[in-house]
Parts: sequence; C-alpha cells; structure tokens
Amino acid sequence: MSNQTHSMSLVTEPTDASERRSKPPVVCYTVENLPTFDANFYDKARSSMRKVSEVIVNPRDASTFEVPAGHIFRIVSTEGSQVGDLNLWNAADLNERFFSGKTRQLHASHVTTGDRLWSNLPGLRPMATITHDTLAWYGYDEDGAGVHDVIGTRCDPYTNFMLKGVDYHYCCHSNLTRALALTKGISTQEAEPYVHDVLNVFMCTGFTLDTHQYFMKASPVRPGDYIEFFAEIDLLGALSACPGGDCGSSHSDDATTCYPLIVEIYKPSSEALEDWMPQDRNAYVGTHGL
Ligand SMILES: [Zn+2]
Repeated sequence: MSNQTHSMSLVTEPTDASERRSKPPVVCYTVENLPTFDANFYDKARSSMRKVSEVIVNPRDASTFEVPAGHIFRIVSTEGSQVGDLNLWNAADLNERFFSGKTRQLHASHVTTGDRLWSNLPGLRPMATITHDTLAWYGYDEDGAGVHDVIGTRCDPYTNFMLKGVDYHYCCHSNLTRALALTKGISTQEAEPYVHDVLNVFMCTGFTLDTHQYFMKASPVRPGDYIEFFAEIDLLGALSACPGGDCGSSHSDDATTCYPLIVEIYKPSSEALEDWMPQDRNAYVGTHGL
C-alpha cells in the first residue's frame, strides 16, 4: 500500500465534498492583458531573415550560443528523435535568466507559437517569443501529454545518485554547467548556480491522469522539425542534448541512442525591425512596502 493510499484512508470525506469540489476553475492571471503576439511583425521578420551562424550540440553534451536582440534562433532536430534542455540568460547579466515557473503560469504547462519565455524577478520581461513550432499540431494527446514543457526541471546527477546510487556526469544539469563554465572561463562550481529550470524542447510529457505523476513518452520530433524564437533582448543560451535521447525509456544513463541538435541563428532585415525595440525590465517600483 502506498503512503498516499494509507494516509487517505485516515481521512473521512465531508458530507459537502461534492459541493466543495464543484467550484468553477478560474484562470489565475488576467492573461488577456499580456502584450499581444503581433503575428504580422514576426512574419515580416521571419520572411526577411538570413542565416548568420549555427552551433552543433553533441549528444550527451551542451553548447552555448549568443543571439543578439532582434535576431531569431531555431533549435533543429537532425539525424534522429532527440530532446533538448534549454537555458537562457540575459547576455549582459547572468542573474537574469529564464523563469520556467512564471512562464507556465502565464501561458501553459507546454508552450508553442505565440508564447513567450519570461525572465525571473525582478526583470520579468519576455526574453524570447516563440515564432514557429513544427510540432504545434501535436496539441494534447489522450494521456494528457504535450510537447515543449515548462513543468520538468532537468535531469541532474544529484537526483540520479539519490535514486540509483551511481555517479553519472552527462545529465542535462551537468552538461549545461560544463558548457557555461567553458564559455565564461569559470569553474563548474562557479557556473552551477546560474543553471536553472529549463524549457524541455521537443520533450513529450504530462501528469498521469490518476496520480498526477510527471511522466514522459517518446518524443514525436523527427529530423527537420524545429522550434523557433525571436530574441527580445540580447541572449546567451545553452542547450543540452539530453542523455535520454527521445526520452521514451530512460534518462541519466548511456542506455539510449542520442542524436545531435543544431541551433541556427538568423538575422532579419533592418527594415523589418524598423519600429521594434528590445523589451524593458519590469516597471514595478521595487520597494515591497518598505
Ligand atoms: Zn536531460
């Protein structure tokens, strides 16, 4: 008997339980007040862009890449079905980084075209806007799973050691830490605190319908698929090609076949960006009542 079942058996349901459960769900935030996704602007930027560089992310490893504000980057599947773990920082300040939890609250458990990747407090601004997603057709399947989640964190060697008692050095957390350390010329100990909860690119995940446990299933991504972002500020990114491969069986080990991912960086025409400005930091006064 699980702990959950055991503790549940000690609790008696009140007589008004069904009445208490019948309240309507209310979306937590007035998300209709978010800055609107200007499809015309992003389409114009996309249609004028030309590729300026690309970075290869090797299997069970991570690479960093820089994207100036107003540029576009794509994460592209090549060779085989592979999941990527993405970190984003303000290129000028590593303390401002992607805020997976607030992105989840403002958009959904899984993100797609039109959604934004928000930065942590106190910046809280769009770091990037998703401008195209070839897996947008997937939606939510019968298991409740979707693609590109902001609910998981990242595979890491600490949880792995706790559960399996073995050291494994190529979890996404370690890959991202190594890549940031090498890019910045700092030690892994100095780099590690900047590594944060990820966007799980191409990963297919959900919560089980009965026990609400986090689950994964084989990613539907195929070579040629991509997710594309418009950089709203100057970005430093890091992408790990997860040791779980398509995350259809295991992770945090060498059991699965893994494939590289490519990050392509594009520059739109200056004409397309004529009336565009990088996003400002959040304008809250910052005094917290004192
Ligand atoms: Zn991973």
